[in-house]
Amino acid sequence: MKEEIDNKIQEVLYDTNFISGRQVQELENQLAQYVGTKFCISCANGTDALTLALMAWDIGKKDAVFVPDFTFFASAETVAFNGATPILVDVDKKTYNIDVDKLEEAIKKVLREGNYRPKVILAVDLFGQPADYERIRAIAENYQLLILEDGAQGFGGAIGNQRACSFGDISTTSFFPAKPLGAYGDGGAIFLNNEEWVRKIKSFKNHGQGNNKYDNVYIGLNSRLDTIQAAILQVKLKKFKDWELYRVNEIAKLYTDILEKIVETPEVKKGFFSSWAQYVIKLESQEQREKIQSDLKKRGIPTMVYYPKPLHMQKGLSMYSHDVDNLKVSSDLSKRVLALPIHPYLKDEEVEKVGMTIKERMEA
Ligand SMILES: *Cc1c(COP(=O)(O)O)cnc(C)c1O
Repeated sequence: MKEEIDNKIQEVLYDTNFISGRQVQELENQLAQYVGTKFCISCANGTDALTLALMAWDIGKKDAVFVPDFTFFASAETVAFNGATPILVDVDKKTYNIDVDKLEEAIKKVLREGNYRPKVILAVDLFGQPADYERIRAIAENYQLLILEDGAQGFGGAIGNQRACSFGDISTTSFFPAKPLGAYGDGGAIFLNNEEWVRKIKSFKNHGQGNNKYDNVYIGLNSRLDTIQAAILQVKLKKFKDWELYRVNEIAKLYTDILEKIVETPEVKKGFFSSWAQYVIKLESQEQREKIQSDLKKRGIPTMVYYPKPLHMQKGLSMYSHDVDNLKVSSDLSKRVLALPIHPYLKDEEVEKVGMTIKERMEA
């Protein structure tokens, strides 16, 4: 893509439209069309995208937002940042997404205790697989809650014919370089169908702008996507749609074919489609994980642990009380999961090499 991307960057430099250039609007239209929402609003990163959504709903003090315990810190951070209370919920041991039964128990518990008002279910599409939105939607309707889909890792995924980043009342994504659709720096986007919230979010992301640039009606943020990033993303979105998403699924399948009899491989639910932000295997123990990780490292194969610490153990969230006895799956996963290299440009031979290295260790 180098030539195409270089040309696109040069265009921006030539036009000197670094902030809010036409490429930003063009990209927003392309993204909304791909995802299948009426509106897309770009912003500076995936964390701001979540924050802006919660701001549009006026979520704050005394409000409870239900967040999975096994995710990147930002999913809960944004809730605390807005002054609301994150209620951490355990995850499903197969999909690693929010456990819907435990979600309902947590909502009932908050209602029973009466300290906070349940307002939002913040569901995460972890590692590229959408959360179980059919069941989450039913619970949201039953308890009159809003759904915020954190699709930072989910862009490109789907359930049936419906694409990820369209399941929430508001959905968000991130263009951090390591996400399924990555920019050459930070970036994020918000997807929705509600015009009133669009109006608010557009103002919030621009210092609470009113009728013009120097009329400010809210306290907001400075959160825009740079034109250069939008230009790069236009090229990358096209490749993502035409080829990358398909290829990354081939790679995941190849990994699974090699590894499924040897370790616990990722499970994509029937009717669900993953964009494979990560390919994560589950080992028997922390000790076994360390051995495999070091074998792979010796052969120059990088791996990562997402996430070594569940959110309820993060110091930054220690001011909240967590229902620790009900967060056991998440704690267990943090000791046993291992993410293998995955991206659309891996060769079959490279995937086979990773697979064989793991196989040798498991059979040793
Ligand atoms: C990366 C990520 C974010 C934050 O996105 P940034 O663009 O890095 O701010 C939020 N939630 C999840 C689940 C993520 O993986």
